[in-house]
Amino acid sequence: MGTVLPAAAGPDCKRFRSPRGEHVLVVPFSQIYDLPGDSAETWDADPERAARSLAELSRARPGEVPLGEVHVPAPQSLSLNVSQACNLACGYCYAGRGSFGGRQTTPMSLATALEAVDALLRDGDAAAPFTVGFLGGEPFVNRALIHKVVAYGSQRAAERGLDVRYSVTTNGTLLEEGDLELMRSHRFAVTVSIDGDSAIHDRQRPAAHAARGSWSELVARIRPLLASPGRAQVAARATITRDGLDLRRIFAALRAVGFRDIGFAPLRRAADSAGAFTAADWPRYLGELEALAREQLARLRAGEPLSFANLAIALKQLERGAASPYPCGAGGGYFSVASDGTWYACHRAIGDPAFALGTSRGLSAEARQSFLAQRHVERQTDCVRCWARYLCSGGCHQEAPARSAASCDFIRGWLEFCLAAYAEYGADFHARHSRSVA
Ligand code: SF4
Ligand code: SF4
Repeated sequence: MGTVLPAAAGPDCKRFRSPRGEHVLVVPFSQIYDLPGDSAETWDADPERAARSLAELSRARPGEVPLGEVHVPAPQSLSLNVSQACNLACGYCYAGRGSFGGRQTTPMSLATALEAVDALLRDGDAAAPFTVGFLGGEPFVNRALIHKVVAYGSQRAAERGLDVRYSVTTNGTLLEEGDLELMRSHRFAVTVSIDGDSAIHDRQRPAAHAARGSWSELVARIRPLLASPGRAQVAARATITRDGLDLRRIFAALRAVGFRDIGFAPLRRAADSAGAFTAADWPRYLGELEALAREQLARLRAGEPLSFANLAIALKQLERGAASPYPCGAGGGYFSVASDGTWYACHRAIGDPAFALGTSRGLSAEARQSFLAQRHVERQTDCVRCWARYLCSGGCHQEAPARSAASCDFIRGWLEFCLAAYAEYGADFHARHSRSVA
């Protein structure tokens, strides 16, 4: 399938500096080069010569999909919206506690879930890993279905020699010992929504039907899994609001609970609009991220693994030369299935016809092609001129309407920090994380 977009008008390189010297990022395919001796001066003084070098360095290599092409891959990963309800009442929830504003009114049935798993395993690339994820609402409201789907997926995987993995995003407050055992005994990526210490978390994530927070319950139930994860990989993901920007305090609280993979997501849009970032918050957030990153880089140099996911993910991407015209797999390799069986490009778009691309009986090739062509980063007016376009990729499609000069300055500032950190600490990072990078 091929739509090829016109060549991007944006810069093809980004010069940057680190304590180790002068460097350049070649924007297509994110290659980083040192510019030793007087080569930095030559590069800056002779744009025509630099352009010739760039033309050579920017070419797709064997196996790389040209970045201007709209490529429609096989579905490889899906999330099942198994529950339309939640026991918490977080003001910023994008899913309306699972009901998506009345567009998802029933929990998912087992038949719908198994039909979706069968379709994924039928249509995906059997040589690559599959991921089946569970979302809600709070997915463990529909605990029995999760256990049955994992048993079914694992049985199908064993019969057909497939690599099937699982993921779940949970508020953690309903977890039982049997759930922990399920996660320990499978390759389960467990993302726990936890926003900081009890004061911050309880303010942002209160119980739905009682005047109390959820921190104590969550911590009591997740600690046994953190202490003994088995095959599960457990990560904390904190939503950062404009009222709680002390990232080092939040990070320290989550380390104290026992998390070793801690990431932050700034609140760009909120259902109740309280706490969403304004233009003035982005520079403060960048300053906080960088201060925490400097602390963690010093620990990396001392031989510790990086627990700060935003930084670890950025360094990993730079190490492997990650470059994509899309911020995520939405509508490409990734889909989210609503309880009525419709496949949407993204879990935040349940009930939105612009994101509905088919069912377990078949996806619309035309709708996928059109969805991906419209969202290609080179089709986004601001992004096409931006040096960060294949690293940022335009950001989450759901959050694109909240894009602003301030939020883009933040993204470029953070990437520039990470580029310099990679140039300075790349060897330490590789030594400590090479097994996961490989
Ligand atoms: S969203 Fe902003 S930072 Fe990202 S590629 Fe587009 S213009 Fe650049
Ligand atoms: S569109 Fe946004 S929320 Fe949806 S999968 Fe992509 S990054 Fe995630």
